[in-house]
Amino acid sequence: MAVVRPFKALRPRKDLVDRVASLPYDVMDRKEAKSMAKGNPYSFLHIVRSEIDYPSSVDQYDPKVYRKARKNLKVFEEDGILVQDETPMIYVYRQIMDGREQTGFVASTSVDDYVNNVIKKHELTLIRKERDRIDHFDKCDANTAPIFLTYRDKDRLNQILDTWTQKDPVYDITTEDGVGHVVWVIDDEAIIKEITEQFADIDSLYIADGHHRSASASKVALKRREEFPNYTGEEEFNYFMSVIFPESNLNVMPYNRIVHDLGGITLDHFWNEMHELFDIEESKAPYKPIEPKTFGMYVNKVWYKLTLKDTSCTPDSLVDNIDAAIIEKCVMNEILGIKNMRDSSRVTFVGGIRGMKGLQSKTDEIDGCGFAMFPVTMNDIMEVSDAGLIMPAKSTWFEPKLRSGLFVHKFDSYNYEQGDSSITKETKEYIESVLETVNKKDGHQTEFVQAVTEVLHSLGPVLEKHPEYIENNILERIVEPERAILFRVPWVDDEGNVQVNRGFRVQFNGAIGPYKGGLRFHPSVYLGVIKFLGFEQIFKNSLTGLPIGGGKGGSDFSPLGKSDEEIRRFAESFMTELYRHIGPDVDVPAGDIGVGGREIGYLYGQYRRIKGAFENGVLTGKGITYGGSLIRPEATGFGATYFAHSMLRHDETDFKNKTVAVSGFGNVAWGVCQKVRDLGGKVVTLSGPEGYIYDPEGVVTQEKIDFMLDMRANTNGKIKDYADRFGVEFIPGKKPWERKVDVIMPCATQNEIRVEDAEMIIKNGVKYLVEGANMPTTNEAVALLQAAGTIIGPGKAANAGGVATSALEMSQNSMRMSWTSEEVDEKLRGIMKNIYNNCVRASQRYGFGYDLIAGANIAGFTKVADAMIAQGKY
Ligand code: NAP
Repeated sequence: MAVVRPFKALRPRKDLVDRVASLPYDVMDRKEAKSMAKGNPYSFLHIVRSEIDYPSSVDQYDPKVYRKARKNLKVFEEDGILVQDETPMIYVYRQIMDGREQTGFVASTSVDDYVNNVIKKHELTLIRKERDRIDHFDKCDANTAPIFLTYRDKDRLNQILDTWTQKDPVYDITTEDGVGHVVWVIDDEAIIKEITEQFADIDSLYIADGHHRSASASKVALKRREEFPNYTGEEEFNYFMSVIFPESNLNVMPYNRIVHDLGGITLDHFWNEMHELFDIEESKAPYKPIEPKTFGMYVNKVWYKLTLKDTSCTPDSLVDNIDAAIIEKCVMNEILGIKNMRDSSRVTFVGGIRGMKGLQSKTDEIDGCGFAMFPVTMNDIMEVSDAGLIMPAKSTWFEPKLRSGLFVHKFDSYNYEQGDSSITKETKEYIESVLETVNKKDGHQTEFVQAVTEVLHSLGPVLEKHPEYIENNILERIVEPERAILFRVPWVDDEGNVQVNRGFRVQFNGAIGPYKGGLRFHPSVYLGVIKFLGFEQIFKNSLTGLPIGGGKGGSDFSPLGKSDEEIRRFAESFMTELYRHIGPDVDVPAGDIGVGGREIGYLYGQYRRIKGAFENGVLTGKGITYGGSLIRPEATGFGATYFAHSMLRHDETDFKNKTVAVSGFGNVAWGVCQKVRDLGGKVVTLSGPEGYIYDPEGVVTQEKIDFMLDMRANTNGKIKDYADRFGVEFIPGKKPWERKVDVIMPCATQNEIRVEDAEMIIKNGVKYLVEGANMPTTNEAVALLQAAGTIIGPGKAANAGGVATSALEMSQNSMRMSWTSEEVDEKLRGIMKNIYNNCVRASQRYGFGYDLIAGANIAGFTKVADAMIAQGKY
């Protein structure tokens, strides 16, 4: 009982079918495949022989070749070159060659039938060749070429073929070799049912051609069963695609062979042995055998007719009686010492289609000894298969060959998997191996590991779609800074003591522009913090759409409680080392925690003194009088609020009458308070390390907003001062996340929202979390919040307004002009809208739905990765 069932073929658009259809993968060498596909981007050889898209230095079995096949298949589908039928069908495929037709059904056949020998084999397979198609089908998650099956003719099936082929075909082409290929689609459910029932009545299907393909397809199915232990058996991966011809239609050609050398015996010895076996006559022309037990032999440019002597080679079995077995056993094995024909590098096989001419020229090329064979019959094949025997190696050659690309059978395996659905094991392994390396090298840099983990875990689908990122090992390269500078910063305090701090500048990635990123002065700073910030900055800067690379720097210096003079002395000392590493076209630092306009002023003053030039494009966040941009101080907070506004608009709402919980009371928080107020909402909390204030009226008046500036300018300022000044509640030792508000905007520092905070946020039903700070939410908290439906605007997108306005400042500096506040604000608003839209698009494109975190990582990553590839292996 053979199981034959319909499937939803992925097949070429009608107008492209003749350009897509290609010869099968195994009838040409790489050079021939390349030249066949030359100038034809639609050729299916780009899928079945994807190594042609690489230089010959790349091994044809290299994993990237299989990834390329998968990618090309996806591109063919996405570009509409191949289109999948919406419902399962059976197809009819007719080939016409030299006036002879063969017409069969295209359907999916069962892997269980293959395993249980309902589908019968007559050839052994080579592990290496099996491996190749296993990797190919597995990677493509599809059968890209049908198996050539046959069956003993059945009247009703022949009638169906006859009747159906009276209809209009969907394809009717003649390929360059003069072979006609005509395809019909059987979309009649009753006929499909009848065909399946008719086949269910047949005991055996026989593999005519495609032993390796069928073995590989079956092994991929068995592998999938292990991957999905709850499989039902109905999944497409349990079936492989076949073209099933009635036996009467088929024509078997000979499969000729050439021995390269005599394996150490003399020519005389060879002739003597051959004379023992055969009657040998010289032939004026190439001798093509016309009956069994006769052979043509071509050696030293002379043709001979060989006729097997009656007694010389007595057959033990059905198989031994076949001509190919006679040559294999009596000549190759016993005379020439070739033990394993299938795998011997001393034998070349030449398909019958190449004719006697082809055999002769190939023999001349190798300077070997060619043997022309009499073809086996279909009956031989079926009898040997039924007896469970194996035909001698390469004894059949079927023509015409089934064209590849007319039908693809998709497994759609990963629809059965939950979660990380479209990511293959290899991609996951690649990501995990890079993370493992990062952990091994930098496991102690916890913030850095956290940032890398979060980004890499959202890149799976991108890597699937772009195997070139894996081939170029982009992940391992992108997690390693191009340069990390660590330096001593000695300075003298007000008491005359020499203090020493540590300075850092990490130039993480300059693929898309000069390094750009702030300086952080805070006692918590160490290499791991600067690396996490620099890493995030790569994607943030890329997201702005502006040509700026990623970098970050700072020091473990604490401005808290320092006098203005001490800050000046520290900043000057810091720049005394830093200046040699930066420049307007090299690396352009800005402010961050602990570095505002005042610090930037001192830093720039020292830079100018040392350089003796007014290169004000070297720093951003400058004062207006020496090249700063209007709106730059507010930009990060404004930008984050614009981003939040887009998130609200997505849900058809806005900031009007919304309450917002903000943490911190620094630069970003200050910008947020203003813009939220301008858009009709109110910020009701601010915080510092010691606790938070709750102001139900909102931080909306100019007086309150200006007071924030005073608190920040006063390096001894504490958030409690706000409560004292405006008579609001101060809640010591707590975070603002316990408040029930509409939007949460963390604007202080990293990891200020942890699991326990997330639980509180979920309990309060807060729907929006927009990160003004960098990485304020731990990965665990993010997972919890996302699962609960909280929409998160990630810092690398939401707080990119600061660096975007820095880039606008750089533009103004290089143009030596300045834009008005309105102009800068307008540009900022446009940039933030673009960033938001890019995140949404990237997230949707790669199957994450509305996930702004994944979208930001992906949109930021691809541009940088492409630039890295374009610039070589740097
Ligand atoms: P900032 O002006 O120095 O403000 C940081 C604020 O957070 C300060 O009020 C600080 O209070 C408070 N804070 C620090 N640790 C805290 C904690 N554990 N709990 C509660 N509050 C705490 O810095 P900023 O420039 O606004 O930067 C804030 C965040 O935004 C950082 O993550 C930064 O990387 C990010 N960011 C800034 C920019 C920018 O343009 N400035 C751009 C992009 C991203 P104390 O002073 O009392 O410590």
